[in-house]
Amino acid sequence: MTCSKPEICTLFGNPVEHSLSPVMHNSAFKDKGLNYSYLAFKIKPEHLKAAIDGARALNFKGLNITVPYKVDVMPLLDEVDSACRRIGAVNTIVNTNGVLKGYNTDATGFLKALDGQGIDPAGKKAVIIGAGGAAMAVAYALADSHASITFLNRPARLNEVTQMANKLSEESKQQVDAAELNAKNLAAALETAHLLVNATSVGMHPDTSQTLVPSNLLRPGMVVFDLIYNPLQTRLLSEAAFAGAQPVNGLEMLIWQGALAFELWTGLSAPVGTMRNEALKALEGQNKAVKRQPAGAKKIQAKTSIALTGFMGSGKTTVAKILAKKTGKRLVELDKLIEINTGSSITELFNQRGEIGFRELEIETVKSISAGQNQVISCGGGLVLNKINID
Ligand code: NAP
Repeated sequence: MTCSKPEICTLFGNPVEHSLSPVMHNSAFKDKGLNYSYLAFKIKPEHLKAAIDGARALNFKGLNITVPYKVDVMPLLDEVDSACRRIGAVNTIVNTNGVLKGYNTDATGFLKALDGQGIDPAGKKAVIIGAGGAAMAVAYALADSHASITFLNRPARLNEVTQMANKLSEESKQQVDAAELNAKNLAAALETAHLLVNATSVGMHPDTSQTLVPSNLLRPGMVVFDLIYNPLQTRLLSEAAFAGAQPVNGLEMLIWQGALAFELWTGLSAPVGTMRNEALKALEGQNKAVKRQPAGAKKIQAKTSIALTGFMGSGKTTVAKILAKKTGKRLVELDKLIEINTGSSITELFNQRGEIGFRELEIETVKSISAGQNQVISCGGGLVLNKINID
């Protein structure tokens, strides 16, 4: 007798209770009609090896690894890819007939998130606060994209962080340095920085009133990327928006690292829209964002989304970017999202599928973002031709 058994994918970490990964992956498996199931396990440090051996013995198809095990898991695997070796951390594991191979999808996930906001890091100067697993993934992604980097970290690990910075500089041929995180160094580094990344948990739920960056150091033209996604609008991002900087939260990075893991496990392209939708819905339930506004800020409705429509060339994208900056809302450029989701340009999609095929894709994309909140959506010129999009 044969019975169809589901493939199991898991998250190992501690804590895992508020992880969005189960919701994202289970909705993605369902979307693609796959008999896969994703479970989160809270693992004690002394049980990590037993848990990995168990995953091998039970033939789990794939694993995600989260805090605090991304580094400790590496020696327990049969292989790790070259990106993991360079970054020094694994967040995704693929089990192929009992052989466990580690990957790091945080780095590419970060770049995809930047790209989605129209930000090209090449030639830019980045300041990264923190030097843990996520910071290293971000730093490798940025250095490989030809950005220069300054790490700012607390003094206890400064020697180790300086060594990591030197190694990255040698490998990437980019300027990479490290300094102690203090007011003087922060002010000096941010004076000429294009991109600030908060890669610490400072500002994360439930302690949402915290920030490591004095608001007077934030300025227009700067991109401020907080890796935190709960709350979506941290105090740092709220103050960045008020200062006229471009705020970016950690949700898109989370979605893309998940999408890339999905692709490694299944060999299929990930339904990114579904994953985003479900993650946003789950967050909405969890999110107890403090709607703290800096003194003098106009009251901004935290959850309302704003959609901009208009004829081609009327300035929707420009206005949407400014509005997203000023309100701290997430910028969604629909045509850009369609291009990212399909890997083809709008012109290519029109040529390949004709206008009707393209409009069908557009309807799917509108559906995938319609449950989201707190967004500024720049719509394609022809989007309003279909009433279903307006509904
Ligand atoms: P980690 O390995 O534990 O590293 C944390 C870093 O933050 C360390 O450099 C630590 O400094 C620093 N830090 C912690 N508390 C601090 C404080 N009070 N003041 C100054 N520095 C402090 O954690 P991680 O995995 O890199 O994660 C960091 C953040 O990124 C977390 O908020 C996590 O949720 C987020 N993250 C987001 C995504 C995403 O997809 N959006 C992915 C991964 C991680 P020391 O070295 O001095 O301890």
